Amino acid sequence: NTPLHELDPDVAAAVDAELHRQQSTLEMIASENFAPVAVMEAQGSVLTNKYAEGYPGRRYYGGCEHVDVIEQIAIDRVKELFGAEHANVQPHSGAQANAAAMFALLKPGDTIMGLNLAHGGHLTHGMKINFSGKLYNVVAYHVDDATGQVDMAEVEKLAKESRPKLIVAGWSAYPRQLDFAAFRRIADEVGAYLMVDMAHFAGLVAAGLHPNPVPHAHVVTTTTHKTLGGPRGGVILSTQELAKKINSAVFPGQQGGPLEHVVAAKAVSFKVAASDDFKERQQRTLDGARILAERLVREDVTEHGVSVLSGGTDVHLVLVDLRDSQLDGQQAEDRLHEVGITVNRNAIPNDPRPPMVTSGLRIGTPALATRGFQAEDFREVADIIAEVLKPSYDTEALRTRVSALAAKHPLYPGL
Ligand code: PLP
Repeated sequence: NTPLHELDPDVAAAVDAELHRQQSTLEMIASENFAPVAVMEAQGSVLTNKYAEGYPGRRYYGGCEHVDVIEQIAIDRVKELFGAEHANVQPHSGAQANAAAMFALLKPGDTIMGLNLAHGGHLTHGMKINFSGKLYNVVAYHVDDATGQVDMAEVEKLAKESRPKLIVAGWSAYPRQLDFAAFRRIADEVGAYLMVDMAHFAGLVAAGLHPNPVPHAHVVTTTTHKTLGGPRGGVILSTQELAKKINSAVFPGQQGGPLEHVVAAKAVSFKVAASDDFKERQQRTLDGARILAERLVREDVTEHGVSVLSGGTDVHLVLVDLRDSQLDGQQAEDRLHEVGITVNRNAIPNDPRPPMVTSGLRIGTPALATRGFQAEDFREVADIIAEVLKPSYDTEALRTRVSALAAKHPLYPGL
């Protein structure tokens, strides 16, 4: 029972340094969040040791009576949270959830439609060298140049031309809500399954602050660690009709033993996500993103007003458009890192710069909302970001302002 600090001081020191980094900087990567201590406790529990291939009540290993209870709690809670008929809580990640859902519904060579990666889609929605692009024939749809929003006329036209077997609606970098009913109508017209990947906005859905895709889609996939704020992992929701196909695609189709320690942590996070506190936090997440978008486009806050894609946001992130700026995505990310704000550069539609550089920044508010940030704190964050995007600024002064915000909202006190 030697503690980590004694057994492996090298790893322990890096873990401590990471805790300090999270506590002392402002985390604004849109796909990140801070899991509650109880979630991390479940994930660090003795469930780490247990093999449990199969599903509750039907395992291929003995001694599963306690993990059965836990996995069933996770299933019941996530079904209730999103109003789903069926849930599989075993996917190790969002990518695994998408791989399994596609494996359940498609054969290699079938046609799928997904949002182009540079327009906000995810790798698993058909990117060329991802499994989805290699196994399936991909027809990508795009956002409209003028509005920055998904072009539903193009989705319909492409669907009618290519008759896909599956249409994926979902995104990793998109500041607006999708029209799930319109996607379903198009899918029905061409005889396709509709799969919604709500990885990014699942927390907003759970809080009732974003339309729920579950009533519209055949299958809904999600991660549990983004706006949902749980452990790193994936979930698949589906109709009862597809339950068997989905389950056998996850196990034995894609995975071996489930990570029951992560399943336990998922169960805890679903309990948290059903609470009033969680809803209030998601509201602050949305308010923070709106404040950020509103302030960044103002000419009196930034030098000439910074463009944000689609002109604003309905979700937990803002996409800054640097196509007309001297500053590229990489430089802007580096500058923000220097003052203690972590974001990621992001390719934007019709990006003139290469993918490793980009002309965009994706800035998200979930992690700061979890820290307790209020509207006035998000205004201050927006103003710091605006300063950094100007040609010159005082790095030390901005670092001090970042530290003051971090100190005002302590993260994991006592850890
Ligand atoms: N789906 C979407 C929309 C995502 O944004 C992501 C992650 O960024 C994933 C799936 C994959 O999740 P994971 O990184 O857990 O595999």
